[in-house]
Amino acid sequence: MKDMVVTIDGPAGAGKTTVSRQLAGRLGYRYVDTGALYRGVAHAAREKSIEPTDDDALSVLCTGLNLELVASENGSRLISGGVDITDQIRTPEIAMLASAVSARPVVRQFLLGLQRRLGAEKRAVFEGRDMGTVVFPEADVKFFLSADVAERARRRFNEMPHENGLTLEQVEADIRRRDENDSTRKHAPLKPAEDAIMVDSTDRTPAEVIDFMLGHIRDRG
Ligand code: C5P
Repeated sequence: MKDMVVTIDGPAGAGKTTVSRQLAGRLGYRYVDTGALYRGVAHAAREKSIEPTDDDALSVLCTGLNLELVASENGSRLISGGVDITDQIRTPEIAMLASAVSARPVVRQFLLGLQRRLGAEKRAVFEGRDMGTVVFPEADVKFFLSADVAERARRRFNEMPHENGLTLEQVEADIRRRDENDSTRKHAPLKPAEDAIMVDSTDRTPAEVIDFMLGHIRDRG
């Protein structure tokens, strides 16, 4: 099989992380979680008390930022300025802040270069919102993974630490708000690429989704 760039875009909670990570494992490819990079920018902005609408401050912030994704046994770790912040970026607050900073062109432009460098050698599965549309329009195989919003909320709720006190209804409301932000923003909105293969994971297990994707990838290879 030839070396490829595979992209998986879709809304929050559709199963992108589980599927992308395992698919990369099956192919022997690198897995790149681009949402973690946006969360990394959000985390840095919060540490410096930068408003997500302050483009000048975000620009300075990005210039000084050194984000690295490092593969580990249980998924990929995000290192910011040499510090592992993986466990601090998986909160509902950082998710919402990531959605806000990700609407700013200055942030998207900064991460565009970083993501393209990570894809230069191919043999990678990229997970995100605009991988197939903007970052890798020439990707070898593109998927758009979605699921009913109630099912996505249920999955997110079940994987959350319950001591955070959020109800299922609150998780669903957060997901709807983030989908709305991500789909309606002016720059690189969440939408399927014209040549993306649509996959609905509502009634499918991750293993079924991965087998379906592998079938398409082998057809292209
Ligand atoms: O995928 P995850 O939920 O970690 O992404 C967090 C946020 O980062 C998303 O809600 C979206 O606003 C933003 N994002 C993006 N483009 C990507 C990946 C994530 O705008 N390629």
